[in-house]
Amino acid sequence: MNETPNVTLARGDGIGPEITDAVLNILDSAGARLNFEEIQIGETQFLSGHKSGIAPETWETIRKNPVFLKAPITTPLGGGYKSLNVTIRKSLNLFANVRPSRAYAPYVPCQFENMDLVVIRENEEDLYAGIEHQQTAEVTQVLKLITRPGCERIVRYAFEYARAHGRKHVTCMTKNNIMKHTDGLFSKVFHEIAQEYPDIQNDHQIIDIGAARVAAEPHKFDVIVTLNLYGDIISDIASQVTGSVGLAGSANIGEHVSMFEAVHGSAPDIAGKDLANPSGLLLGATQMLVHLGQQDVAQRIENAWLKTLEDGVHTGDLFGAQSTQRVGCKAFAKAIAERLGEEPKALKPVHYEPKTMVIPKSRPILTPSDKKLEGVDVFIDWNQTGRIPAKLAQELAAAGDEWRLKMITNRGVKVWPEGMPETFCTDHWRCRFLPVRPEVSNGDIVSLLANLHAAGFDVIKTENLYSFAGERAYSLGQGE
Ligand code: NAD
Repeated sequence: MNETPNVTLARGDGIGPEITDAVLNILDSAGARLNFEEIQIGETQFLSGHKSGIAPETWETIRKNPVFLKAPITTPLGGGYKSLNVTIRKSLNLFANVRPSRAYAPYVPCQFENMDLVVIRENEEDLYAGIEHQQTAEVTQVLKLITRPGCERIVRYAFEYARAHGRKHVTCMTKNNIMKHTDGLFSKVFHEIAQEYPDIQNDHQIIDIGAARVAAEPHKFDVIVTLNLYGDIISDIASQVTGSVGLAGSANIGEHVSMFEAVHGSAPDIAGKDLANPSGLLLGATQMLVHLGQQDVAQRIENAWLKTLEDGVHTGDLFGAQSTQRVGCKAFAKAIAERLGEEPKALKPVHYEPKTMVIPKSRPILTPSDKKLEGVDVFIDWNQTGRIPAKLAQELAAAGDEWRLKMITNRGVKVWPEGMPETFCTDHWRCRFLPVRPEVSNGDIVSLLANLHAAGFDVIKTENLYSFAGERAYSLGQGE
């Protein structure tokens, strides 16, 4: 690790510049070994015509430096502006979002004074791949993509994180009882990789009860690893339960570049008034120091910050029964700098092992897969009067002589053969065809589609049905 690494710095919008100044002063006083390179992103760039909030030449700086400390930015309303965070995350392959949530009771009121958990959220796949379609008048869809390399990488990262941060337990959360192939893959990979970390305990929980437990007994969790959407939701639940989302920092980890920030936004309502609490960005910065191997500096800063909270020196957003002094952003930073070298007495001090964390790489699966085509699901937009499945089945059967119609589902529920008249049917029908011959190819599917087209059907998409190593790799229809 470079002794004085380069850090890309964006001061952001709204309260961004003032909390950045506060954080830079603390980093400097604590002896952080960092070389900052400043860039302009956000509101000024959006308004000067860059729809993503960043000028093309600025990417060069972000890509060449190992870390990026980013203050919150304002996304102008309307005008089709894209979220800069999502753009940076996806463009730079920042695969892991790490969000610690800790209680600071009684200084920040929280019911669970021993709560100290970290959510590690897969950051690129799942429903956030952004592949959505509307293909019939009534039905929209989104594609949920879960890849084995993606699962392996995030799960391995979670165990490596636990090891490097002295944590004891990793909980995986999925909905694998319903989504057996996508969430099922994530949990399967979790159980495989957990074997490689016998020093870390592990368990799996279904996301719905898991999320309820994060709300009701958060002190029982240590590290949670989960898919993108679930992670987005439970990390917010966890932050909220600590009593203040405003204190949370967040890391977006990649192989070459990682980005660190506060969870909150640019708070334009209090900008320029010296009222902002710089803690979220400060905790993002201490995550960055740990990531860079400067655990000693991170520990000094976080302990001084905890001591400041404990001494009752609070910004307005935290001011309450335990406060002794109401301060602005600048004075709060000064109070932290003055306490460097001190440890909290009531709150638990932090202690970081001087261990360098391994960032797992994505490993493509290179062995040829034993994949066999077993059939095809043909999706049809069909809106004939009464929407009677048996009538559709009769018309379809006439169109595919090399294929046998196995079933029809509507919204995943089998409606033919032997469907129930109560099942509501939309205009979006999945028609499962199995081949009459033992071997089929994509060419046979093309012929089937040509026949269906000639018979007047509006085919809106197909999904091939495969087995891998003899195991069925597609879901059955509900009721099939
Ligand atoms: P916000 O987090 O900026 O503000 C919500 C409330 O919390 C406001 O009342 C604000 O005054 C207060 N607050 C936030 N941070 C504070 C701090 N450090 N100290 C004291 N009080 C604080 O959320 P918002 O109002 O929904 O969004 C404002 C802007 O921020 C929007 O343009 C939004 O797009 C942007 N935003 C940016 C990021 C980011 O860059 N990572 C994240 C969220 C929102």
